[in-house]
Amino acid sequence: NIKYNNELIASTIIYMIGGIVFAGIEYVFGICGFPVIELSMALQTAGIHYIGMRNEQAACYAAQAIGYLTGVPGGVLVVSGPGLLHVCAGMANAQVNCWPVLVIGGSCPQDHEGIGGFQECYQVELARPYCKYAARPPSLSLIPQHVEKAVRLATYGRPGAVYLDFPGNLLQARTTVDQIPTQYTSPEIPLAFPEPRRIEEAVALLARAQNPLVIVGKGAAYARAEPEVRDLIDSTNLPFLATPMGKGVVPDTHHNSIQPARSLALQRADVVLLLGARLNWILHFGRPPRYRSDVKVIQIDITAEELHNSVKSSVAIQSDLKPAVAQLAEGLKMRGFVFDRRSDWWTDLNKKIEDNKKKVEEMALDISEPLNYYAVFHHLQQVLPQNPIIVSEGANTMDIGRSILMNDLPRHRLDAGTFGTMGVGLGFAIAAALYCRHFQPEKRVICVEGDSAFGFSGMEIETMVRYKLPVVIVVVNNSGIYGGLPEDVYNDLQDSGEVTKVTPPTSLSVSTRYENMMNLFGRKGFYCTSISELQNAVKEALKVTDGPSIINVIISPSADRKPQTFSWLTESKL
Ligand code: ADP
Ligand code: MG
Repeated sequence: NIKYNNELIASTIIYMIGGIVFAGIEYVFGICGFPVIELSMALQTAGIHYIGMRNEQAACYAAQAIGYLTGVPGGVLVVSGPGLLHVCAGMANAQVNCWPVLVIGGSCPQDHEGIGGFQECYQVELARPYCKYAARPPSLSLIPQHVEKAVRLATYGRPGAVYLDFPGNLLQARTTVDQIPTQYTSPEIPLAFPEPRRIEEAVALLARAQNPLVIVGKGAAYARAEPEVRDLIDSTNLPFLATPMGKGVVPDTHHNSIQPARSLALQRADVVLLLGARLNWILHFGRPPRYRSDVKVIQIDITAEELHNSVKSSVAIQSDLKPAVAQLAEGLKMRGFVFDRRSDWWTDLNKKIEDNKKKVEEMALDISEPLNYYAVFHHLQQVLPQNPIIVSEGANTMDIGRSILMNDLPRHRLDAGTFGTMGVGLGFAIAAALYCRHFQPEKRVICVEGDSAFGFSGMEIETMVRYKLPVVIVVVNNSGIYGGLPEDVYNDLQDSGEVTKVTPPTSLSVSTRYENMMNLFGRKGFYCTSISELQNAVKEALKVTDGPSIINVIISPSADRKPQTFSWLTESKL
């Protein structure tokens, strides 16, 4: 507060910052401009880390990744109109992923509304579909209440995005302190406990199962339920499958992980224990033909509205995962339940795991050039440091990389997620690198990008250089979206007079030298066409600790996934 004419004066900016600091928010990402310039500077003065990004989408991706990694939402600061529209993509991604984020938008002064104000736009209405809460505090004195409510809604129950709108005139507002209600903050997030009867039912159902399967989702990672889930798996010997970002809650290298036998496990399981995962497209809706029609689901989720979604659960438990899984494990232990390693189910799963591992190994060991995906990931894994945070996006790059790049710790994989958003990679990597700098300076961030995915947010490498974030970016370059064209074919098409009619929509320029983007900063990138070049480049890049590196790995434009039992996303009954 500032003193003026012997009265204590409070300003909007001070009250907003107060709310943000009280909420424990330490990182705000954004793009500075009218009318939020003063606010961005004031944030820094208040000791908050302000990270200036190159696109509002990436700023919002970074802020929500901070929210997922720390449990405390990151903030996003954007300008009016286009700034707000760009950030909507980020809010939608946070909302669909169930990650907390607080977005603050400057907007056109209210006395310019309706008469063609600069960047005038229906900001609260535009933000609302992608948010749990979207509001414009009507006056300065009501700001503390709205900030408190926004942070509470972002973090309580199912986390998500929230938006607060600040017209230019409100940002300039001043009042005397006695007009302002006492600042208050949200109490600690309440912990929801399970109904004891439902836990008993779940124990009974699991104990009778012939082909039980535990599915671990990113809700378990967000809940920090890793001690409980690991204890459940260790004490019961149940087979488990992680969703893409559920990886690492129980280590991928744990001997109960049946990841390589995913299709068989889903198809034959008779009881599925669903821990913080939705039966959406990622889990094939829980329906035939990917599951048995008589599969019984035990579902644990913090969100009551999620229970029985897509298929009716046999046991539906609304609870935080930590107490629910602890009680479930306890109940199973009291019964002396241990699932038999010599059972037919484990035998079938293990056989499938061995078969699939062999198939993948053949491709991984084929290092002929141009390289294939499996060879790249297999040999990349060999030279990675211990337990890096792996960020990954791009269709094939992400899907194939997921099965080969191991995560033994929770919240160590960030990818395109439930919304399948390409362009999240560099923003997520920036957040992960800031997280590492703050909490675990030895830990590294590896950002594995398809060449197409990299294009969405490639300019954020400038942000990484500016803030000295040592992210190792590996661009797996097949010269296209899904796939590209061989160089001679591509060149012939380019030479024709009709490039816009003949260049396939999926192809990008052949073997683009993305690593040369490092030259923009007087730094050097790595160009690789062979496994030895790739491995050397990774070793060299890991020595760089004051900024990002780009490793551009050229692979075959027609490299593909191994043949799949089911084609992806193609079964629809409509
Ligand atoms: P995945 O992509 O890994 O399948 P989803 O994002 O589909 O995961 O599902 C995560 C689920 O976890 C959401 O339905 C969300 O409500 C739930 N969830 C989030 N936090 C918790 C928590 N603390 N306890 C229980 N469930 C949670
Ligand atoms: Mg590609």
